[in-house]
Amino acid sequence: MIRTILLATAAFAVFSAAPTAAATHKRSVTASASLPASNPFAKPSTLPFQTPDFSRIKDSDYLPALIAGMAQQKREVLAIANQASAPTFDNTVVEMEKSGALLDRTQQAFDAVNGANTNDTLQATDSKTAPLLAAHNDFVNLNAKLFQRFKYLHDRQAGLNLNPEQAKLLDYYYKQFVHAGAELPPAKQADLKVINQRLSTLRTQFTQKLLAATKAGALHVEDPAALAGLSQQQIATAQQAAKDRNVAGYVLPLQNTTQQPALDSLSSHDTRQKLFEASLNRAEHGDSNDTRSIVSEMAQLRAKKAALFGYSNFADYNLYDRMAKNRATAIGFLDRLAPAVSARQRQEAADIRALAASQQAPFQPTAADWNFYSEQIRKQRYALNNDELKPYFEYNKVLTDGVFYAANQLYGLTFSERHDIPTWSPDMRVFEVHDQDGKPLALFMVDPWKRDNKGGGAWMSNLVTQSYLRGTKPVVFNVQNFTKPAAGQPLLISFDDVTTMFHEFGHALHGMFAAQTYPTLSGTAVARDFVEFPSQFNENWALEPTILTHYAVHYQTGQPIPQDLVDKIKRSRTFNQGYDLGETLEAARLDLDWHSLPGNAPREDVDQFEAKALATGGFDTADVPPRYRTSYFSHIWGSGYAAGYYSYPWTRMLAQDAFNWFETHGGLTRANGQRFRDMVLSRGNTLDYAEMYRSFTGHDPDVGPMLQFYGLSGAAAPAPAPAAAPAPGPAPVAPKKGERG
Ligand SMILES: [Zn+2]
Repeated sequence: MIRTILLATAAFAVFSAAPTAAATHKRSVTASASLPASNPFAKPSTLPFQTPDFSRIKDSDYLPALIAGMAQQKREVLAIANQASAPTFDNTVVEMEKSGALLDRTQQAFDAVNGANTNDTLQATDSKTAPLLAAHNDFVNLNAKLFQRFKYLHDRQAGLNLNPEQAKLLDYYYKQFVHAGAELPPAKQADLKVINQRLSTLRTQFTQKLLAATKAGALHVEDPAALAGLSQQQIATAQQAAKDRNVAGYVLPLQNTTQQPALDSLSSHDTRQKLFEASLNRAEHGDSNDTRSIVSEMAQLRAKKAALFGYSNFADYNLYDRMAKNRATAIGFLDRLAPAVSARQRQEAADIRALAASQQAPFQPTAADWNFYSEQIRKQRYALNNDELKPYFEYNKVLTDGVFYAANQLYGLTFSERHDIPTWSPDMRVFEVHDQDGKPLALFMVDPWKRDNKGGGAWMSNLVTQSYLRGTKPVVFNVQNFTKPAAGQPLLISFDDVTTMFHEFGHALHGMFAAQTYPTLSGTAVARDFVEFPSQFNENWALEPTILTHYAVHYQTGQPIPQDLVDKIKRSRTFNQGYDLGETLEAARLDLDWHSLPGNAPREDVDQFEAKALATGGFDTADVPPRYRTSYFSHIWGSGYAAGYYSYPWTRMLAQDAFNWFETHGGLTRANGQRFRDMVLSRGNTLDYAEMYRSFTGHDPDVGPMLQFYGLSGAAAPAPAPAAAPAPGPAPVAPKKGERG
């Protein structure tokens, strides 16, 4: 199989006789390709579940194994492409799935360790291999002979007598080749190559300019009075930031979103306004950091690229393998939310204006003042007192009596801790997961504690991917970033952290229930607008009464959590959602509009285009600006989210609608859990996502339960019927938490 590098898709060039970069790498790689038998990756691990043997793996083992793995897969792929026999499913598609075993097992271990426990050697290995891996993917995806074999099979698919998973796999490969340009006539391939190269250059320029613009956009103040309201620590940090830049006074650096953390507490309206405008206009000063001409060219080039493939816009071209399938479905989703969300935005804005007036504010509050006042409203009406809550959320109890218990009640899983499996950190815990019949299902590892050499946030990934073809059962892990308590002390966590644990374990279940023959389609290797569905869905069990009463007991007294605290948690979730959900939906709309241009569109004026797009979205964008403006929207210009930012709220819709199905069908029962496992969690990417969803709930996804979840009453427009969607998808290597991005 070919492990998809998430960001590599934009680098897909075009089919050509001599992909020079790949050929160059091939030579240099082959030269050092033999792997000594002493390298722990040379053979599959003999440990239970083929877990990488971290007691034997040295940091220096990864680089030679990765390089040898690429070389080995190149030989395998060339053998498939160049064989004399006519293509068959077995000699082409199955052989592709078998290829790259050494690379896969090394890369999975390497990605895990480099993400959670890195060091200079691992980082150097990463820098060295990242461009090689991108070229390696191109080498495979751009091989014209290989494509011809897949096309031959795809054209004769009806006569091949394939089972549904096999048919899906063939279709997946074929569409991926076609999407990269394999079927275009030579003249269009030449045009595509020029466009891809230009887009790649512009993308790099955008990233560099935005980095510089964000740094230069920091607010510099000389007078400490301007910073009134900030804590001593925030002021000290601002002073240090000024020193680091060799300027007098104080500097408030910008974070990547429109809203800035200091706006919560700065008491000067004037300073708030300055900081907010610095954020909004960071990349629009007409200087060398201005990104507008780059993004308008990128939008135009993407539209032209889509036209080469016969699509009327880039969103339609790019969403071919997603659940939403096309631009109209994604826009329709946003349109259905807009009435309820904009009504809430106006209500929240009125509350803020009323509060400012009651405090005799000598100005009309703007978006710059929103957080300052909303923070006061939160404290008055919605505040969760963490000191009051945390004694009910003891980490180990949340894990075993909450997260694991929910999986037991829903799916019949049981867990036994193992101490004989080596890990990359002595603090990790390993559990063997037993299926409902007691048979081994998977290994689950958790790496709980914050370390300086660990990436931030929480995430899930696989060390071993489930595949019947390869005879592998899943080994999955969750990484967390809790502060390690002193020996013998309990770790008490917030409800946000509890939610994160359920979330990441939702990804883990998706990986552990995988029941695929072919690794490319296995488990969490699903589309971007689907992968956060199982994880967000699983969050819901944290507050389900049977589960909650089982784990949320006071760590000293053993008393269950009082109902009024539970009610507060639920209420706090609805706070400020006109803003929080609204800014995300507005950014999603902006993204889709930029990728709705026809192939003959002129270069757009960025500010005019943005104003028009925001005006047509149906949201209150004066009070609630988008989470990212066009000129600093790095998800869509600098990384892989073009026409895909809607995925964050989309998967929340799926999660709440599916949970609503449980609530209306008897709630937490083994039968319901089994049904969800059979129809969704075990299916990987073997079915059309929309059909999979419909077969589970009996209807297309509905925004109603999501609006209810956020406390936004049912003012939504009725759901139209989305188009059916055949949809293979890229593999998210490590789904991260942080739904709103
Ligand atoms: Zn996630």
